[in-house]
Amino acid sequence: MEIRRISPEFAVSPQITVEDVGAAAAQGFRSIVCNRPDGESDPQPRSDEIRQAAEAHGLEFRNVPVVSGQVTDGDVSEFGRALAELPGPVLAYCRTGTRSSTLWALSKAPRLSADAILEAVGGVGYDLQALRPRLEAATGKVLPLAPAVRHDVVIVGGGAGGIATAASLLKRRPGLDIAIVEPRDDHYYQPGWTLVGGGVFDRADTMRPMAGVMPKGVKWIRTAVSSFAPERSEVVLDDGGRIGYRALVVSPGLKLDWDKVEGLRETLGRNGVTSNYLFDMAPYTWELVRTLKGGKAIFTQPPMPIKCAGAPQKAMYLSADAWTRSGRIKDIDIEFCNAGGALFGVADYVPALMEYVAKYDATLSFSHNLVKVDGEARKAWFDVTKDGKTERVEKSFDMLHVCPPQTGLDFIRRSPLADAAGWVEVNSETLQHARYGDVFGLGDGCSTPNAKTAAAVRKQAPVVAENVLSVLDGKAPHAVYDGYGSCPLTVERGRIVLAEFGYGGVLLPSFPGWLINGKRPSRLAWLLKEKMLPWIYWDGMFKGREWLAEPRILPMSPTARESLEACDFKDQRKAS
Ligand code: FAD
Repeated sequence: MEIRRISPEFAVSPQITVEDVGAAAAQGFRSIVCNRPDGESDPQPRSDEIRQAAEAHGLEFRNVPVVSGQVTDGDVSEFGRALAELPGPVLAYCRTGTRSSTLWALSKAPRLSADAILEAVGGVGYDLQALRPRLEAATGKVLPLAPAVRHDVVIVGGGAGGIATAASLLKRRPGLDIAIVEPRDDHYYQPGWTLVGGGVFDRADTMRPMAGVMPKGVKWIRTAVSSFAPERSEVVLDDGGRIGYRALVVSPGLKLDWDKVEGLRETLGRNGVTSNYLFDMAPYTWELVRTLKGGKAIFTQPPMPIKCAGAPQKAMYLSADAWTRSGRIKDIDIEFCNAGGALFGVADYVPALMEYVAKYDATLSFSHNLVKVDGEARKAWFDVTKDGKTERVEKSFDMLHVCPPQTGLDFIRRSPLADAAGWVEVNSETLQHARYGDVFGLGDGCSTPNAKTAAAVRKQAPVVAENVLSVLDGKAPHAVYDGYGSCPLTVERGRIVLAEFGYGGVLLPSFPGWLINGKRPSRLAWLLKEKMLPWIYWDGMFKGREWLAEPRILPMSPTARESLEACDFKDQRKAS
């Protein structure tokens, strides 16, 4: 917990956990205010869980949820009322603390000067200068809306796609004015989580401070984007502030929709229910694998698209391998429940995978979509579709590894950048937005029909960098992405089936067949995954070294040219 004291009676914090509540009580807080709607992102403790913990420690609790970037006057009044009624000191929290400090600032505006308020919040790390007009208006002194600060390139998201693109841009044009908007303090190497769940990596190996991965010279804006105003070439931040751009790169990842499975959020991390899709949870997978003596182990895969489509079965293979090595496999009944109808989307890799399914004696259950879990009863329910009919089937488990359903993030879904399915709508070759020529998208959150992987991002980032610079120079995009994605299927500890393919399932191996035959389990591919790929991620991709990822510069395809001509970017450029 990172408590930032704004006044003796008031402090804010990024999201707190149930365990933090006791620490808050010990530090003398007497009330807690939640300013975050439930279910906003990856499992966050629900407000009623924090309420229960607060009441158990004798603290008062108030829920004043506020939608990111949309702090209304009504929210400010309700928050002000809560502060007036609750015993102090009060600790308020949201995702990063920005919304809570914004609410405090606006609730104090009638009594304190804007300078004093901005100094108080600035002193604990919240730069709310964009609020000045609203603060001044609240004291009766109305100022015109401050012009948005403008950068050459604004990048949404400091994940794999955002950092790699910034590095590739700076490699091509050192000194370019780039801002990355990213609310998290830490950056995660998510491809490592399969190996954490398999007992190979420590989870600490998969995390670095965000400050450490930001390329030198990039301005890190430590908050979230809440909406887009592409007609003004601006993004709106969590605190209502705006930043302008000459080119925008959108790479915010996707939403893990835990709430789509009834009862899952309540039991995740307990009762034998786990998921390698979370930093905090992957070690629990390994704990379950180590301690399971016998019984039923179920691994689930939701409907596509998901990030790293092989990850659900990788969890199964590595668990089964550990049980084989410890001699327990004969006592463990393994089932892979897949909402889809095939083990892997590219048929060339299926025979090698089927050999392992047979070796581990795992049952494959297709068209099985997990919809409900009761952790305490150790039961899971699946909607099973057969011959066009769907019926609900109950299964018991001793261990349940869940890959959650995945969708576009809410702030993308409701934005003008989204396609009908909720993804950032880009041209699949140039990665330029379908309607806004100064906007590009890459990574898990965009609409391209490739495998959503960091390997895809490694190839996409240089393409986006090339094309952003072209557009900044008043030229058409000219670099082309071929849909490359890769999935190192960890079929056993020490061997990998290295799937590498592009659009339409075309195989795109990086190595000659005599070195790594992707269709067969390979020791060298395991070494690549365990030793080389983390290094390529942190020290290659994030430093602008484009090993095996040089962008293809091609004459533009008719589709790409059409999309460029259809957008009004040339006019926007003239205007700016
Ligand atoms: P992310 O890396 O998820 O980054 C998105 C960033 O955007 C985050 O930092 C987030 O905080 C930020 N953000 C979100 N909302 C906002 C907002 N409103 N404003 C500003 N910023 C925001 N890939 C492989 O290549 N090989 C593998 O073996 C592999 N295995 C995987 C195994 C697992 C279990 C998982 C979970 C993933 C795996 N992946 C693998 C996939 C890979 O990690 C992702 O494809 C990759 O991280 C996508 O990069 P991204 O930038 O799109 O999203």
